Amino acid sequence: MFAEILTVGDELLTGNTVDSNSAFIAQRLTERGYWVRRKTTVGDDVEEITTVLREILGRKPEVLVISGGLGPTHDDVTMLAVAEALNRKLVLCEECLERIKAFYRELYEKGLIDDPELNEARRKMAYLPEGAEPLENTEGAAPGAYIEHGGVKIFVLPGMPREMKAMLEKEVLPRLGKKKFVQRKLLAEITDESKLAPILNETLERFNVRIHSSPKGFGKYIGIILFGESEEEIERAKAFMESKGIRFEEGW
Ligand code: ATP
Ligand code: MG
Repeated sequence: MFAEILTVGDELLTGNTVDSNSAFIAQRLTERGYWVRRKTTVGDDVEEITTVLREILGRKPEVLVISGGLGPTHDDVTMLAVAEALNRKLVLCEECLERIKAFYRELYEKGLIDDPELNEARRKMAYLPEGAEPLENTEGAAPGAYIEHGGVKIFVLPGMPREMKAMLEKEVLPRLGKKKFVQRKLLAEITDESKLAPILNETLERFNVRIHSSPKGFGKYIGIILFGESEEEIERAKAFMESKGIRFEEGW
């Protein structure tokens, strides 16, 4: 199962904002059993977003999570770009409009804003690509969108980390089915990663696992994370490495 992540925002490209959203999304998808093959970042530009979306869809990931650019301002163009890339129209989501209305009314009643009425900018957030299912934003105004297109599950989320996280947990992960993935952390008693490399390569060829390795414990160990779709496959891969002379300790 492979996934891609697209983050959108000029501030990510200038370095003014560190793209923490893609790391968070990647962690959650990995835990769910997805292999995140690529993360891409583009600015708030319809053409850039559309181009990169078409590239991603051409690679046919099972899941694509997009974050950023759903707000009311003129530079928030992600929904428009998604619609263009999928050759769909942007259509008004009545239910979203009602939510947006209620959201601003509540802010007004709390004395946080002066004007509760819908204006063009606020209304803009209620437009989703045709056929999209709205995703509820419990922390902000802009709804997200879920679209199935050519076998790709596309999720469009806001950029504000608080809003993105809530929507990911409440709206995205429940649509991705049950966890089917296992990761096992091991310490290999070997100090030289280059000696380990050929064994890891052979393991990768023989078994349906992924391996991440990094030095640990002041050069005394190499930390290894084995990722796979079943405990049994991980066990077989581990046994194979042991047969090649690697001694493991559990956990790190
Ligand atoms: P809104 O404009 O309504 O806040 P939005 O979906 O348009 O929502 P953005 O304008 O893209 O969100 O970003 C809002 C805030 O979230 C900005 O302060 C931005 O720096 C931050 N942000 C956006 N993308 C990311 C990201 N990938 N990682 C961390 N922070 C981000
Ligand atoms: Mg933005």
